[in-house]
Amino acid sequence: MQVALDDYVWAAGVATELVNTSAEVWRGEDRLPDAAALAAFADLHGDRSEDGAPGTLSELARRVGAADLRAVHALRANVRDLIDHPDRGRLVAGATALTRPARGATLVADPAHRSRTRWAAPLRDGATVAEALSLVCGVGILGAVHTLGEQRFRPCGAPTCRGVFIDTTRPGRRRYCMPGLCGNRVNVANHRARRAAADHRRPGTE
Ligand SMILES: [Zn+2]
Repeated sequence: MQVALDDYVWAAGVATELVNTSAEVWRGEDRLPDAAALAAFADLHGDRSEDGAPGTLSELARRVGAADLRAVHALRANVRDLIDHPDRGRLVAGATALTRPARGATLVADPAHRSRTRWAAPLRDGATVAEALSLVCGVGILGAVHTLGEQRFRPCGAPTCRGVFIDTTRPGRRRYCMPGLCGNRVNVANHRARRAAADHRRPGTE
């Protein structure tokens, strides 16, 4: 497996999804409680262009023991801590440490243009799924800091949500950690509040 350095949008998205599986975000319920959940996470968020090939995120996630799961949980806490404290120097140092499972930098064929190449950090042979995810998160954070800046590391805008995210949208106006969920919750709450206010103003409903 390798992580293309210009594919930081995908990589930062995986980092966001990983931190938002924690019990802290899901009111006490860890969304990565066991090996099966981790395999499902890898299938959902892994690099689809390499699906099924040996050494991919999905394939590594199928060889998970208790120690690997603990390592993924520790990585998740580490990435959360970085997003929670978006100081540029701290983000760069922390994300650089996360890329340790890479063996240097290289050029790989660009899947979209076979005659072209792209920068990539290949994963060390024999790496675990936690190390693979660490490399992905490290590249995602470094790419986001480099291209977009540290103000893109933010807490979710839903008042009751404890999630965080890395905003890789072009305009940089993302507000929620899980837009489909937290955004909808806020819309529903706002709608109810408006309707309650309208009912209150309407004569004869008091
Ligand atoms: Zn949220």
